[in-house]
Amino acid sequence: MERTLSILKPDVTRRNLTGAVNQRIESSNLRIIAQKRLHLTLEQAQRFYAVHQERSFFNDLCTFMSSGPVVVQILEGDNAVNHYRDVMGATNPANADEGTIRRDFAESIEANSVHGSDSLDNAVKEIAFFFSEMEIVG
Ligand code: ATP
Ligand code: MG
Repeated sequence: MERTLSILKPDVTRRNLTGAVNQRIESSNLRIIAQKRLHLTLEQAQRFYAVHQERSFFNDLCTFMSSGPVVVQILEGDNAVNHYRDVMGATNPANADEGTIRRDFAESIEANSVHGSDSLDNAVKEIAFFFSEMEIVG
């Protein structure tokens, strides 16, 4: 069993697709063991995405991530980190496989509907960034 950090991005909440994306998550054998809706400040988005601060898209990405509510979640399941990456699909929805969340819901490479941790180490850090022990009901 593993845990990974998921974020439903502002393009999802704006289009009222939280339930539709959660259905994809749950039907792919991942369990939502913690979940909350937040409106990140620009500073919080910059801290979360600090690993990308040298990338050309950093400012736009942080502006987008703080442009509306997000839903942050902890997903639990077998091989959760890599499995959720498969369920999400490629970063650019134009390259995402059929049946993936990004292929079916993403608006663009930036507004690509979901975030998922890219390693177990980062999952632990990202979960601790958003959740306290009391908020996690495994
Ligand atoms: P995430 O970290 O959100 O799960 P990812 O791991 O597939 O996505 P990263 O390379 O970590 O992709 O990029 C983080 C986010 O930055 C992407 O999800 C996307 O929203 C945005 N992004 C990545 N590349 C670009 C780009 N070339 N132009 C605009 N935005 C981008
Ligand atoms: Mg990433």
